[in-house]
Amino acid sequence: MDSKLVEYTEGKSILLVPEESLIYNVPPMQPAFFNPRGVESRDLSIIVYETFYNQVGKSLQFLDILCGIGARGIRVAKETDISKIYLNDINPNAIEIAKKNAEINNVVEKCIFSNDYAEHFLASSRKEGNYFDIIDVDPFGTPTPFIEDVIRTVKRNGMISLTATDTPVLCGIHEKTALRKYYGRSLRTEYCHEIGLRLLYSSLALAATRYDKGIKPIFCHSTRHYLRVYAIVTDGAEEGDKCLEEIGYIGHCSICHDRIKLLENSGVCKNCGQKLQVAGPLWIGKIFEKKFVKAMEDTAKKLDYKKYLKMINLAYMEADGPISYHLVSGICDRLQIMTPAIEKVVEKLREKGYFATRTILNSRGIRTNAPVKVIEEILLKLAKI
Ligand SMILES: [Zn+2]
Repeated sequence: MDSKLVEYTEGKSILLVPEESLIYNVPPMQPAFFNPRGVESRDLSIIVYETFYNQVGKSLQFLDILCGIGARGIRVAKETDISKIYLNDINPNAIEIAKKNAEINNVVEKCIFSNDYAEHFLASSRKEGNYFDIIDVDPFGTPTPFIEDVIRTVKRNGMISLTATDTPVLCGIHEKTALRKYYGRSLRTEYCHEIGLRLLYSSLALAATRYDKGIKPIFCHSTRHYLRVYAIVTDGAEEGDKCLEEIGYIGHCSICHDRIKLLENSGVCKNCGQKLQVAGPLWIGKIFEKKFVKAMEDTAKKLDYKKYLKMINLAYMEADGPISYHLVSGICDRLQIMTPAIEKVVEKLREKGYFATRTILNSRGIRTNAPVKVIEEILLKLAKI
C-alpha cells in the first residue's frame, strides 16, 4: 500500500484516511474508500445507535458489513456504549487501515475484523449461530443485493440501517433501473426523495416478509447525494402480514399537484378528474417512530451533537403527518409570486386547522394535509401583504 495515510478528525474519533480521499471530489476506491462528506450520515447514526442501546439496555453486537477504513464502525466503538463491533470488508487495504484506526482510538478490544465478501461473512455468521443486534449496509450504489442476507442475520427486534447512493434511480430519473432494483416505480416529483426512502423501506419489508418477519421504520433522512433508512426487524408471520398492509402506491396529479395514498396502482384525481401518475409499490406507512425520534433528541444532547437537534425535531414534528410534502418555492413559481418565509405558511395552515410542519427531507418543504388549493390561497394572500 503506497498511499499516504493522514489523520482526520470526525466526531470524537481520529481516523487515519488515505490522503487522496481528502483531495478529490469523488474519493478513490484504492487503496481504500473514505468519503469525508458522509460525516452527517455517520454523526446521525451514532445518535440512532446510542438511542437504540439506551432502549434495549443490554450489551449489543454491531456489524458494519462494508466497513471500508472503519469510519462508521470505529466511531460506533469509540462514541457509543455498544460493546462489540464487527468490521468486514473485501478490500484487505481497508481492513489494514481499519485495524490501525481501532488502535489509535483505543478500541481494539471491542473490535473484530474480517476480510470477506459481505454475503459470505453473513452466511458464515449464521452457520456459527452468530446473529447481530444492529447491521449497517453502506455500499456504493444500491444496498438491495445485501438486504436478504442482512434480514436473515439480524436478531429478533434488531436494527438494520441502509444507505443508498443511487439517488437518481430512487428519485425517478432511471425508471427501469428502479423497477429492477426496487420492484417499484419512482416518480420525478418535488417529493421524489420521500418516494426514494419509501422504496427503500418497501424493499426491506418485502425481503422481511419472505422470512415471516416484518419491519418498523424508525428514522430516515436524505442528505446530499444519499438516502438513509433505519428500521427494526420484527419476528413472526403476523408481523409480516401487518407489513404487507403498509405496502401500496402514491398517486400524483400532474395537473393540480394533489397526491394520495392508493392501494391499487391506478387512480383518478378527486379534484380535477385527471388520471394519476403512480409511484410504487412502496411503503405507505409511517417513516418515523415518534417516541424513538424523541429519545434521539436526548441522546444528541448527551453526546453533544446539538447541531442535529433541529433536524431531529423536524422528524419528530412530521412523524404523524400525511404522505409526501410540498415545495413552497415550487408552488410560488407556478403562481408567479415571491416565496414567503416557510414558517409563515406553516403558521397560516395551522390557524386554519390543518396539520402542517416543515420536513427533514427538504429545507423548502412543508408536510400538510391541506389541499393544494388551500396552500395556494394562503400563498397568494401572503404575497399581497
Ligand atoms: Zn388533479
